[in-house]
Amino acid sequence: MGKYRKPNEVRFGRGAVRCRRCGTHDGVVRRYGIYLCRQCFRELAPQLGFRKYW
Ligand SMILES: [Zn+2]
Repeated sequence: MGKYRKPNEVRFGRGAVRCRRCGTHDGVVRRYGIYLCRQCFRELAPQLGFRKYW
């Protein structure tokens, strides 16, 4: 079906990850395997039990 893959599956450099909540590539936190950007992490951290790290 053509030479193009689905736009949403564009590959990024090795190690590039997307925030699983908002999809941004900016400042994604991979520590603890949570895969959230800094902003989402701050919002969700308390629910995830990371509050003490802030
Ligand atoms: Zn996010």
